[in-house]
Amino acid sequence: MAGMDVIELQQVTLKYGNLAALHNISLTVKEKSCCAIAGPSGSGKTTLLRVIAGLLHPQSGNMHIADGKTIAMIFQGAALFPHTRVKDNIAYGLYNAGYKKDEIAEMVKHTAEKLHISHLLNRYPSTLSGGEKQRVDIARAIVRKPDILLMDEPFASLDPALRNTLLEEIMRIKEEYGMTLVMVTHDQSDAMRMADTVFLLHDGEIVESGAPGKLFDDPELLFSASFFGSLIPDEYQIHVKNGRFTLLSLDYHCDIPDGTYTVLVRPSSFVSKGTIPVLIDSLSRYEDRYLVTGSCEGERVSLLLDERPKGSALFVGVLEEKVLLFDQNGKRVREKIFL
Ligand code: ADP
Repeated sequence: MAGMDVIELQQVTLKYGNLAALHNISLTVKEKSCCAIAGPSGSGKTTLLRVIAGLLHPQSGNMHIADGKTIAMIFQGAALFPHTRVKDNIAYGLYNAGYKKDEIAEMVKHTAEKLHISHLLNRYPSTLSGGEKQRVDIARAIVRKPDILLMDEPFASLDPALRNTLLEEIMRIKEEYGMTLVMVTHDQSDAMRMADTVFLLHDGEIVESGAPGKLFDDPELLFSASFFGSLIPDEYQIHVKNGRFTLLSLDYHCDIPDGTYTVLVRPSSFVSKGTIPVLIDSLSRYEDRYLVTGSCEGERVSLLLDERPKGSALFVGVLEEKVLLFDQNGKRVREKIFL
């Protein structure tokens, strides 16, 4: 994506006491992009977002926000003032910012319409549902049309359908306002669906970054592959001896040192024609394809096929260039494999 960098971090390290919650973080965020900060619990996601928000100050490194760019943040769980009506919650930051009364009224009205909460403006937060509170919280964050919107898993406690609706609305408003979005998520599907760039954190470091499709299909690290993996089995252990190994009943050549490796075969890397025998356990629709789970010589396998298999067994093939090898440190091995 073209555009200038709106956020830039250089070798940022942040410690809580002796613990380096962020270690040597460098990243850039392009204007109008949607970036996801992803990673397991405790990896430093919230800390990183708070550094970007200017709420935490790193001990070393630099951070730069492009000149004149405004930032707003949506925190975990809607943080509304309980004794203040919805309209005043939304307007809260505007009174001190020097806006005139009728300007404020217009901004609140406009924003409420965007988030479909015009009918709630005179209510108090305690009378709202969880989803309505979140809408008010979003309205509060975007009422000044910030250039950069930061979100820290704001909808984690909502049910999936409502969460999806709110994420879609945020994306719509992001496009309309031309905002840059940076969101923390531990949910790989949110990251896959929304982000154009993912920064994947592990123990306070960015271990891999890039387009979500790249991290899913062509990762450098097994850690990324597993984080962005499906919940269905797609990793296998192989033992290489004299440049040969067996995977799912087939023998391969590969010019790599002897040892144990992990192989990743995404379900979509299988094809319906081949000689690998699979006994089917279950079959379900997955978008416009069929997800088959079963076994091959004692190994669990998951395949995404274009056609519904007939019977309880089938023979499949695998696209060799989509079989990914990782060494014992979880690093990608780029050597080609041959049948
Ligand atoms: P995440 O958002 O990925 O779950 P956090 O950024 O919240 O991770 O935390 C990163 C690490 O820093 C964790 O080990 C956490 O326990 C620690 N940590 C977070 N906040 C504080 C704090 N205020 N004081 C001390 N340690 C903290």
